[in-house]
Amino acid sequence: MQTKRYAIIVAGGSGVRMGLDIPKQFIELNGKPILMWTIDVFNGLVNRPEIIVVLPEAQVEQWLELCKKHSYKINHKVTIGGKERFFSVKNGLNLVDDGNSIVAIHDGVRPLVNPSVIEECYITAEKLGNAIPVIQPVESIRIVENDNSSTFPRNNVLLVQTPQVFKTSLIKRCYEQPFNASFTDDASVIEAMGEKVFTVNGNRENIKITNQTDLLIASAIINKSSI
Ligand code: C5P
Repeated sequence: MQTKRYAIIVAGGSGVRMGLDIPKQFIELNGKPILMWTIDVFNGLVNRPEIIVVLPEAQVEQWLELCKKHSYKINHKVTIGGKERFFSVKNGLNLVDDGNSIVAIHDGVRPLVNPSVIEECYITAEKLGNAIPVIQPVESIRIVENDNSSTFPRNNVLLVQTPQVFKTSLIKRCYEQPFNASFTDDASVIEAMGEKVFTVNGNRENIKITNQTDLLIASAIINKSSI
């Protein structure tokens, strides 16, 4: 029997860095809110995971209205976000059954993740306990120390994306530890418990939509891929 799969899509941040009134996960990208594009990728997987969306309490009603407006019928559970991403993930994990299952944790504002990358993460995590997608930087890298900066070898650096996928028992155990400000993603949470993190190749289009330029790039990528 195949291991049960979950996907927690975190959109629990206020998401207003874009400088618009609307939370960034609700901004329309080519006619549909970003968050719907993201959910649709997971919904379209051959082995469809159970989908859990984490939203700030104050945005749930707006989300339900958007679902009505767009006649959006994709089955998903909604839970409430926390003050930090860590607490949003933790709330999502509360809806994941214990037992032999595997859970992907994905940023709601990364709608361009490639389904084959997600599949590779699930498969690797099932074998090794966890998997995160990474890409190599194309820029040169400098490290800042005090008032100085110096070149750092680019080949020793990886840029981390989501989904980050884990055996449920492992990720739930690691999320029992107290919050630490150094937790910027889920890999950093398991690493703090002494776990080795495994990487797979990500896809470069899988940007975290953070500003207007990202929105233009995402729109162009969607237009190109629908030709
Ligand atoms: O803030 P950052 O860009 O790291 O957020 C990454 C993802 O985590 C976003 O999808 C955001 O909505 C989510 N997040 C969350 N709860 C928070 C903060 C961020 O779910 N308190």
